[in-house]
Amino acid sequence: MPKRKLKRITVKVGTRVLTGSRNRIARKAIKSLADQVSALMDRKIEVILVSSGAIGAGLGLLDIRKKGRSLSELQAIASVGQSHLMDIYNEYFNKRGYIAGQILLTQEDFNDRRRFLNMRYTLNTLLKYGAVPVVNENDSVSTAEIKCGDNDRLSSLVADLADSDMLIMLTDVEGLYDEECRLIRHVEAVTAKVKSLCGDKGCVESTGGMITKLEAVKYAASAGIPCVIARGGRKNVILDIVEGAEVGTKFDAQEKPMKARKRWIAFGMKPKGGIIVDEGAEKALIAGNKSLLPGGVRDVTGRFSDGDVVDIVTVRGKIIARGISNYSSSEIEKIKGKRSDRIEKELGYKDYDEVVHRDNLVVLE
Ligand code: GLU
Repeated sequence: MPKRKLKRITVKVGTRVLTGSRNRIARKAIKSLADQVSALMDRKIEVILVSSGAIGAGLGLLDIRKKGRSLSELQAIASVGQSHLMDIYNEYFNKRGYIAGQILLTQEDFNDRRRFLNMRYTLNTLLKYGAVPVVNENDSVSTAEIKCGDNDRLSSLVADLADSDMLIMLTDVEGLYDEECRLIRHVEAVTAKVKSLCGDKGCVESTGGMITKLEAVKYAASAGIPCVIARGGRKNVILDIVEGAEVGTKFDAQEKPMKARKRWIAFGMKPKGGIIVDEGAEKALIAGNKSLLPGGVRDVTGRFSDGDVVDIVTVRGKIIARGISNYSSSEIEKIKGKRSDRIEKELGYKDYDEVVHRDNLVVLE
């Protein structure tokens, strides 16, 4: 990885790093994080923390278990946990002369340009004041449809939004392991082969939360941001990574970052459904650089409107691309398998010849 001067980094901390037995917040872990982040801020390296742990901490405080809880219960639990978490962050940041500022987000903040720009402005202003932004999903209001999903994904969205020079994801394993459970030190690109290490044949340490981390790495890499996955409990882990020490698994950024609009289509939005395409269309999209026409569509999954981002999926179930659909799922149901000159007859109108235009499509592999 070519060494670049780090001015701003995003650090994601998982629940398991922050909670101890019976979901009690591990104060030692937060102290260590606050100390390391403060040391970096002293050196004028800006740090944005993406911290999980709201639900975990809430469970611990209320002394209840997660299993079987309804959405509204989890939302309430997160509300209790999030403020407790911030209290502890502030306790330790204050000791080092810093203040933490809480930012709670949902996917909708990334979908809406105005909210997106506001959010970036707030982050930059907090950093200008010398405060540490502590970001989490707004679990108390977010439901499945508006959720970013997991905090790995959220951290890559934030790293991109804030123009970070590096994304560090701290977890409870050393990094990504190969099939023989040896730690992989360096990964150039997250390919299908790398992802398969999180599957059945991979080391047990690499399963669980690792696949969402690799997705996040893929997104960050496409934005030109290198990543490191490492064990959060390791002493001085953040400081050592910033120094360039061999810690965890390092992932290179893409040499030529994807354009912002394409990145947004490929990773920034959550796909609302899928369009299943035949082999001819698959080849035309991947090798021929073509648009997706109704003739190549076999089926649709989920319900979506025109203008939504959708997955483009092969008949074997592999997601090969993402794109903005010109037609809704119910319209595509009517025109699938038909030639473009039949669209008007089937729908009574025709806005586009293509179901997904090439300019609005990103091939993923
Ligand atoms: N937002 C969740 C929490 O703070 C965690 C989600 C995640 O770690 O992916 O409890």
